[in-house]
Amino acid sequence: MTRADVVRALEEEYARLRDENLRRRETRIDEVIAADPAAGPLIHGDAALFQRQARRLLAHPEQAEAIAKDTREQAAANRDALRARLKALGYPEDYLDLTYRCPICRDRGYVGEPVREECACFRQRLARRLYDEAYAGTGAAQTFETYDESVFPDDEKVDGLRTQRQRALAVRDICRDYALSCPASARPGLLLMGGTGLGKTFLLSCIQNALIARGFAPVRVTGYRLFETMRGTHFGEAEKEAEFRRMIGCDILLIDDLGAEPMMQNVTREYLFNLLNERQSQQKNTVLATNLNHTDLLNRYGERVLSRLMDGMNVQAVELKGKDLRLYGRRK
Ligand SMILES: [Zn+2]
Repeated sequence: MTRADVVRALEEEYARLRDENLRRRETRIDEVIAADPAAGPLIHGDAALFQRQARRLLAHPEQAEAIAKDTREQAAANRDALRARLKALGYPEDYLDLTYRCPICRDRGYVGEPVREECACFRQRLARRLYDEAYAGTGAAQTFETYDESVFPDDEKVDGLRTQRQRALAVRDICRDYALSCPASARPGLLLMGGTGLGKTFLLSCIQNALIARGFAPVRVTGYRLFETMRGTHFGEAEKEAEFRRMIGCDILLIDDLGAEPMMQNVTREYLFNLLNERQSQQKNTVLATNLNHTDLLNRYGERVLSRLMDGMNVQAVELKGKDLRLYGRRK
């Protein structure tokens, strides 16, 4: 399941919850009417009231304000009468109010107008689901706990100082510190460089899972997916625009395999710069993994993007070195 799948499943769950709230209220209404048939008109009074308001508005549009005020007052009087009636019958006054699991979003999962945001209850559930999802898959989860440095050769030095294993461990520690201190990490950006088969994607998953375990809901994309989103945005596709906005605005963004995406005139460099610049100016956390080295990055994306990727004040850049594990062969 991708993050989008998990979000969709959760949204469906919220829709079911809202149906359930309505159904529970219907049951209580039936119960009250059975106990006191005279309560019926008070309970269903609002519908008749609004029908009458619609008819009056059609006949006298010039009195719209007065008609609306009148309707509001009658609705309030209705509500008071119903509450008094319920009390007299021995029910709580709010017995027929809709009840919600979350009163903040009223079980919609989102709050805010016109900018819609995930409600805290939704974010919390989402993080929990993503966490379960990460651990539910077959095979061992990719976490710092299961990180096995012994797969890396330990015989020759790869940077004049350390062996591949020692260097991998140093990078792992940086990644772990980042994931455990996020969002208060010393620098909000982390750039993981190094050729294929050095364990970057595994480390990215470790960071992702450590964040999820801490209750965050990071957004993870591949460079290719990012490009698809940027291209769609460029051509005005609403769905892609929304997705790109989410990538810019989310608290933690993980980009895997940056550099594998196509280069497109007026799109790749421009939108990537936009994304990085926007996130950096808001001090949002971004982790990137790429097969490209410093020179490749400069040649591919140009000076402006590189200045955002390599800005030492905001980004910690680390590089894995050594043999491609897939060619070197697994230990044992
Ligand atoms: Zn809520």
